[in-house]
Parts: sequence; C-alpha cells; structure tokens
Amino acid sequence: MYKSLTDEQEERWEKYKNRARSWSQTKQYMTCPYQFLLSRIVRAPEMRGAWLEQGVAVHAVIEEYEKSERSLTDSQARSMYQDRYSSMINASLAVTSDPDMWFSSGPYRGLPQDIERRYRVGADQVSAYLEWSRNSNETKILHNFVELRFVLDLDGVEVLGFIDQVVNHVKKGPGVRDIKTGQKPTEHGQLELYALAVKELHDVEAEWGDYWLGKTGKTSRSIPLDTGPSQRSHFVEWFAKMDAGVKAGDFLPKPGDACERCPVQLSCAYRAGS
Ligand code: SF4
Repeated sequence: MYKSLTDEQEERWEKYKNRARSWSQTKQYMTCPYQFLLSRIVRAPEMRGAWLEQGVAVHAVIEEYEKSERSLTDSQARSMYQDRYSSMINASLAVTSDPDMWFSSGPYRGLPQDIERRYRVGADQVSAYLEWSRNSNETKILHNFVELRFVLDLDGVEVLGFIDQVVNHVKKGPGVRDIKTGQKPTEHGQLELYALAVKELHDVEAEWGDYWLGKTGKTSRSIPLDTGPSQRSHFVEWFAKMDAGVKAGDFLPKPGDACERCPVQLSCAYRAGS
C-alpha cells in the first residue's frame, strides 16, 4: 500500500481519526479507501474538473436567491454566478495550470474549452432556477431551511452535513431537496440521510425528496424516503465502518469504475486498466 507517511501526513491522519464524518467523505472512503488516503491525508496532486467550481457557484447563488426571498433579478444572479465561478477557477488555475491535470468533459478538453463553456452553462442554470421558481408554486421553503447545517449523532459517530433545502409541498407535506448541476443520482442515500437528520434534529417528517436538476431546469420526480429503524441501522453501520477504517488505517485500494474519474489517479499504482 502506501510506503510511509511524513510527520505532516501523520498529523493529518490523527485529525481525521476524530473528526465528524460527512456524506462525501464517507462515500469516497467506501468507494476506495486508498483514494481517501491519497486525497485527504497524503494530499497528492489532484486532477480537477470545472464542474466542481460550477456546482459550488450555482449552489451559492441559489442559496443567496432563496435567502433574499427571491428578490435577486436574473441579471444580478447571472453576474453573481460568473464572479464566483471566475474567482474559483482562477484560484484553481493558480494551483493547477497543467492542462493534463484538468478532466475533459465529453468532447470538451478541460483546459480551456470545458472551463470556458461552464461560465455560460452555470449562468444558464441559475437563470433556469429563477424561471422555474417563478412558475412553481407547489412547494415552499420550510422554516427558512436553506443550506441547513446539521450534526447528527449516529450511535457515537458524528455526521455533519448541509441540506440544500427543506421544502413543504401543498399535498405531500415536508420533503428534502438537493440541487444537482450534473447527472441525476441513481441512488438516493444522501436524501435519506437528510430526511433522517431533519426528523431527529427538527422533528420534521420528510417522507419524500427530490432533486432540482440544472440539466433540465426543473425538479426530478418525487422519491419516497425511508427513515425507519432499519434505514437508520444501515446508516449507523455504514458510518461506523468508515470511522473504524480510518482510525485503524485501513486504506486498501479498490480499483474499479471509480478510477476513471479519480482525482488522484496519477499518483496511484493500482488504477484499473493501468
Ligand atoms: S485510481 Fe482507482 S484504485 Fe487508485 S486511488 Fe483512485 S479509485 Fe482508488
């Protein structure tokens, strides 16, 4: 596996042993513990994809728009997106200027084509959100729950997260909504975790969830969510396994489909297909 850690990396590992767990951190560990090690503890150079900056900037503008009680205009929201996207991309380019370290997206080479086109794509997604919000009256944000931070205690393991939106539907009642600027997820554990968090921490029973999809400019179909005892036990086990693995230093590589988009693949000798 990994030869040996420097003192600085050992220190980072120590910190990781005791910090709260998040969905993305745990998902990364479960997908490939070695990727977790290289990315978070060793801090190997990472390949970048401009979809990350696009996603963060779109989320930030939608949050601002909802917190302003939807008072931002289309042109304000677009320029806010473009400013945030540009400043994040510039910061990333200052660290990663090698074109080979940027992922391509379909026919678009990462640097510069994909970076350039996402300046427009993200702004269009923001406009689409504003347009959709004006024509959609069935759901309202519940209790101002936008980017709602939570820390959930799952039988001794602290799980930290942010829920994009908790909404209330005129007929279906409370639900959780996640904003996606890329592909629609095929499994919905993240929404189930969010529903469990609002149930345990805010006494809100969210029995459904959905995604607002930047690719279509509207919400996905509504997904029934289970927050019952067996689903809770599943999360308890899932997070406990990751927590114990990080503490024990279990960072075995798991080569597979994830290697293709793995940000630390250039530092990995186990990459599938290499
Ligand atoms: S390239 Fe594959 S095996 Fe290597 S760290 Fe990434 S996901 Fe794991």
